[in-house]
Amino acid sequence: MYKGIAASGGIGIGNVCVVTEQELTYDAVIVGDAVSEKKRLDEARSDLKKKIKEASDTVRSRIGSSESQILDGHLLMLSDPELIKPIVKKIDEGFSAEAATEAVLDGFIKMFRDMDDDLMSQRAADIKDIKTGLLKTLIGVKEVDVENVPQGTVLVVKELTLSVTSRIKRENVVGIITEEGGITSHSLILARALEIPAVLGIKGITDVAKDKDTVIVDGSKGLVHLKPDDATYYEYVDKKEEYIRKEELLATYIDKETITADGIKCRVYGNIGSPDEAVRAYEHGSEGIGLFRSEFLFMENNHMPSEEEQFVAYKEAVATMKGRPVIIRTMDIGGDKEIPYLNLKKESNPFLGFRGVRYSLGNKDSFRTQLRAIMRAGAFGKVKIMVPFVTCIDELQEVRGLVKEISKELENEKVSFEKNVEIGCMIETPSAALIADILAEEADFFSIGTNDLIQYTMSVDRGNGDVSYLYSALQPSVLRSIKNIIESGKKAGIPVAMCGEAASDSLLLPLLISFGLEEYSVNPADVLRTRAAIAGWSKKDADELAEKVLSLRSENEVREILEKAVDRS
Ligand code: PEP
Ligand code: MG
Repeated sequence: MYKGIAASGGIGIGNVCVVTEQELTYDAVIVGDAVSEKKRLDEARSDLKKKIKEASDTVRSRIGSSESQILDGHLLMLSDPELIKPIVKKIDEGFSAEAATEAVLDGFIKMFRDMDDDLMSQRAADIKDIKTGLLKTLIGVKEVDVENVPQGTVLVVKELTLSVTSRIKRENVVGIITEEGGITSHSLILARALEIPAVLGIKGITDVAKDKDTVIVDGSKGLVHLKPDDATYYEYVDKKEEYIRKEELLATYIDKETITADGIKCRVYGNIGSPDEAVRAYEHGSEGIGLFRSEFLFMENNHMPSEEEQFVAYKEAVATMKGRPVIIRTMDIGGDKEIPYLNLKKESNPFLGFRGVRYSLGNKDSFRTQLRAIMRAGAFGKVKIMVPFVTCIDELQEVRGLVKEISKELENEKVSFEKNVEIGCMIETPSAALIADILAEEADFFSIGTNDLIQYTMSVDRGNGDVSYLYSALQPSVLRSIKNIIESGKKAGIPVAMCGEAASDSLLLPLLISFGLEEYSVNPADVLRTRAAIAGWSKKDADELAEKVLSLRSENEVREILEKAVDRS
């Protein structure tokens, strides 16, 4: 048995599929001769063309021909003598096919990037894709087709990347095991939304586990049983049934109000990354969408979604929620969210760099497009705007100024839109937490983003398993910060919500109730569990516990007292 971090609840029993992402290493100089090296290049090109052609056909039939055009463009480039001839020339100079490909294509990428023009940036992104494809083919990297793994698969990966998670199909994958990764990395949040049991942090598992081995993933306890004996196997078959039975019991909370044991009215919302997920949020009884991570729309596409494309997506989520509020967070690009076609500059500290509202305000054209789409969707229901990664009041004021300008613009164009759209502020940086009283004067509501707030308060990368022992909402510094934010918001008379993963942490919940939090935005999979947990606490009991907790000095002490007080059965 292996013990890791319990990351996504439930029990999965299935067969191992190891997904490794090999490094692209190669010899820089020719090992054989130039003729055979050129032949390798030719073969790699035709193999890659075949693969791209298949992918293009699939995309065309599944999504549409405009999306497949980019792949068709890649096919043309692979036959373009302007790209290929210089590579051949470099091979003649004594470089290996890999080294020649990389050097020549890197030159083109730089040239197109330096032109500082959207179309040329797209060209640079295309050449980068081709370069990676050619190198992988030349080196012989074998990739698992995650989208088409058989039913009952447990994915075993070093680190769960967004590119892997976004290809997972829920009907095929019953569990995920990783060697690395933090509990609030975006790929993991996505896995939780898919309700796939997951255990993180099992070092060496990609070496020990072999394809098709039977494996049990206990995502609630963080346990993995590789090649279990019969007794363990059947014990877990029973446990799985028990888990499903408990989930079904939670269904009784679907139509209930969210209310504490002593009658304080609260609300539980859902966090989503696409309009499809709104359907699940609605079905799981969420009272609205507290966080629509709009950047996922940008990540799913291979081009910047137009105003119309965004409008359609936002409107769809609004229609699905049937009049319940939908809070759309403006693009939180940067950090661990890469968007290849934007050709973002490589930063040495992406989490401290050109991220969130900083990116939006630095790229006003695309920001305006997004704001217009959100405000137009507001004509079809209750939509609010939320601004990510705020660190100072100027950012909020600038966003408000833009919203005003766009309102005039839309009015002149006689387009229907939400005229009094609320603008909320995510409180997810220590700076925002410390000046919450100031920000409350400019914001219509707050939403506490604990995923980042913990990361920045504790100075701990949220995706790095080696430092995850420090990553906890129960750290006294984080608790003080959360309390201060809620109190500042309430004092200013604006609603305060929490939309980080901690909003569904049953250990933290009594403290949140005591601090006065009334809005919880959680993964759709956790809506009913959160509503049931809120029903179990009265303010008086929560206050008594919080008073004790706030006098403690370490995370361990806090955890210990909460674990005793909280029934997590
Ligand atoms: C957060 O930081 O808590 C949050 C909700 O935003 P994200 O996880 O997308 O950074
Ligand atoms: Mg965040």
